[in-house]
Amino acid sequence: MQVQQTIRGARLGGPKPAAPRAVCSSGRLARRGMPVVRAVAAPERPSTLNVAGQDVGPKDAPLPSLFPTAPPPPAPGAPKLRVAILGGGLAGLSTAVELLDQGHEVDIYEGRQWVGGKVASFKDKDGNHIEMGLHVFFGCYFNLFRLMAKCGVLENLLLKDHTHTFCNLDGDVRELDFRFFVNDTKIGAPFHGLKAFFTTPQLEPIDKVANSLALGTSPVVRALFDPEGAMQDIRALDNISFTDWFKSHGGSDASIKRMWDPIAYALGFLDCNDISARCMLTIFQFFATKTDASVLRMLSGSPAVAVPGL
Ligand SMILES: Cc1cc2nc3c(=O)[nH]c(=O)nc-3n(C[C@H](O)[C@H](O)[C@H](O)COP(=O)(O)OP(=O)(O)OC[C@H]3O[C@@H](n4cnc5c(N)ncnc54)[C@H](O)[C@@H]3O)c2cc1C
Repeated sequence: MQVQQTIRGARLGGPKPAAPRAVCSSGRLARRGMPVVRAVAAPERPSTLNVAGQDVGPKDAPLPSLFPTAPPPPAPGAPKLRVAILGGGLAGLSTAVELLDQGHEVDIYEGRQWVGGKVASFKDKDGNHIEMGLHVFFGCYFNLFRLMAKCGVLENLLLKDHTHTFCNLDGDVRELDFRFFVNDTKIGAPFHGLKAFFTTPQLEPIDKVANSLALGTSPVVRALFDPEGAMQDIRALDNISFTDWFKSHGGSDASIKRMWDPIAYALGFLDCNDISARCMLTIFQFFATKTDASVLRMLSGSPAVAVPGL
């Protein structure tokens, strides 16, 4: 069976998904039992911004100015493609939205009975909310925010105060606090990051010195005046682990254990031995150059019903 469903209308972050409409299918994969979602464009929804947090104002919310430029509309007479996407997770769904916006026809082949992959959530028979994954959003997730704006679900984002919290053993809680004001004037990147780093009690002074050496000689500094060039340098570090790169630049084991491992886990469920230097330095250069990149957002509750694929 093939299902026609309003992908843009699906409330990935909202309480209730749009009901799917079943239509006939003659697709080869569908005949083999693979559920298929026919993606169709839905009208744009107006979006409102739910802005919370004491130190994070509307200008820090995911406004259109933070989004990357949308792909240009297709040229007149450009061929319309019929595209099959394998997997209805965030990657597949967002690709479908972009292709639909370009006027192509899209079928999503999803192995499960529902779409969303690791961003799906549902309530089990005992009433427990089960989340498959994603629940925290950094301010530099520009593409994700652009997708959420198209879906009309930005209103479900809640802002957290601009500080990151480390929960150590025995209830020892310490902050990496980006809030930086001088006479009520908010100070932004890169100074708020330097302030956060040099005042955090999560690291010892000796480790801060070693960190300064490592990051001060990294492409993150180049990113301050040449972001494109810095990204080229950073992309070249895909084959080296963050641990190897960091220690070869004078970084300490204590910093890895106390600060960079928790951040690596948050990014990819990997520790610094397994995550690449490219991955870590990419997010560091965003944090260093864009005031809002390190702001965290969460969702105002998880949807209680999975977005069905069948
Ligand atoms: C517990 C957890 C917490 C997370 N927290 C965060 C967070 O706080 N912030 C953050 O940014 N990221 C977080 N992530 C990561 C984020 O959720 C994922 O990176 C993202 O959702 C992956 O999307 P995807 O489409 O690439 O893959 P998936 O979501 O895995 O989607 C792949 C889809 O393809 C389908 N599929 C696979 N093989 C086939 C096949 N052969 N045929 C048909 N269908 C197939 C699967 O069923 C699935 O639906 C978290 C992940 C987990 C697990």
